[in-house]
Amino acid sequence: MRYTARQIEDAARHFLTASGSDEYEADIVARHMLEANLRGHDSHGIGMTAMYADYLKKGQLKPNTPPTIEQDRGAVLQFNGNLGYGQRAGYEATKIAIERAKETGVCLYTIKHSCHLGRIGTYGEQAAAAGMVSIHFVNINQYDPLVAPYCGSAARFGTNPFCCAMPATDKHGPFILDFATSIVAMGKTRVAYLAKKPFDEPVMLTTEGVPTTDPSVMWHQPRGALMAFAKHKGSGLAFACELMAGLLSGGGTIQPGHSRDGSIVNNMTAFVIDPAVLTDMDFLKNEMDAMIDYVKSSPAPDPVNNPVLSPGEPERMRREDRLAHGVEISEGEALAIRRAAEGFGVPEEHLLPMPC
Ligand code: NAD
Repeated sequence: MRYTARQIEDAARHFLTASGSDEYEADIVARHMLEANLRGHDSHGIGMTAMYADYLKKGQLKPNTPPTIEQDRGAVLQFNGNLGYGQRAGYEATKIAIERAKETGVCLYTIKHSCHLGRIGTYGEQAAAAGMVSIHFVNINQYDPLVAPYCGSAARFGTNPFCCAMPATDKHGPFILDFATSIVAMGKTRVAYLAKKPFDEPVMLTTEGVPTTDPSVMWHQPRGALMAFAKHKGSGLAFACELMAGLLSGGGTIQPGHSRDGSIVNNMTAFVIDPAVLTDMDFLKNEMDAMIDYVKSSPAPDPVNNPVLSPGEPERMRREDRLAHGVEISEGEALAIRRAAEGFGVPEEHLLPMPC
């Protein structure tokens, strides 16, 4: 069934306010999830409420808990997410880091112990909208590892996302490179599993280490492992995220000496850079336009179905399409979203509708 942006946002808001968030927090988290759905990353959209409901009931996610500043040294800021909603911690910390970078030229900020930060590109978009460049390394605590290192068969990393963002020019939208270091994000295996759809190519390993397209290997115990993208390079970047985010934030890595309560706790080490401090902005925009045009001029063998795009462009195209035609959510996912809200007493009229 297809849902409008309004239906998704309303259902998300009612879940959040019924489960303890005030209107301010519900607004940030609901809009983050809606934007994830609109931009085609359903793995980080309203479907996450089923997982958050579980965390809320176990006390692993604490509503109305803002991030706190643990260290402020001018161009270096360190935040503690205090196990509150990561979408809020990420938004508030990035907002402060942007303001700081306007004064200091660059701001290195870290967040530790945040519940799930959601779609990291959201913070790249936030920085880019303020005319800033940003780079983000993220790792995961408390959850079991999901991604096998190159040449290994058992998981040793989280899906550790990386993001690099540049502001828009008059001609092109912002450059937003934002991905999990696994071939697919774990949430995409959930969406595929609930929709009973295999992947087109092997993106996971069975417990025997055999590549497979079947998402159920990630949702039955003992669990298989996701494959890192681009062999040793993606595996190396996942490792770098583990070190950059886990060590510099103080949150720690996924090594087995730490507790694992089954929730997703994120740490992030990020940089916001004011490009105007480093270069002339007309030069930057002209050069960026010329480079994007040059890249996109590479002839595509299948330009209709597979055109050459710039990172961030597929999300903007999907957003336009989904705003016009709705967001498809599988029946299995819709049921899980409804059950999560029902568990906090949300009445039928405020639940995500089911097909008649
Ligand atoms: P993905 O594989 O869809 O890759 C997305 C990136 O690739 C985007 O920058 C997109 O613009 C670019 N891209 C996609 N197709 C393109 C094309 N044809 N041409 C040019 N560029 C293209 O994303 P993913 O790895 O599935 O990650 C999805 C989301 O999950 C991300 O937003 C990530 O931040 C999030 N995530 C979060 C966590 C967490 O712990 N919070 C963990 C993992 C992933």
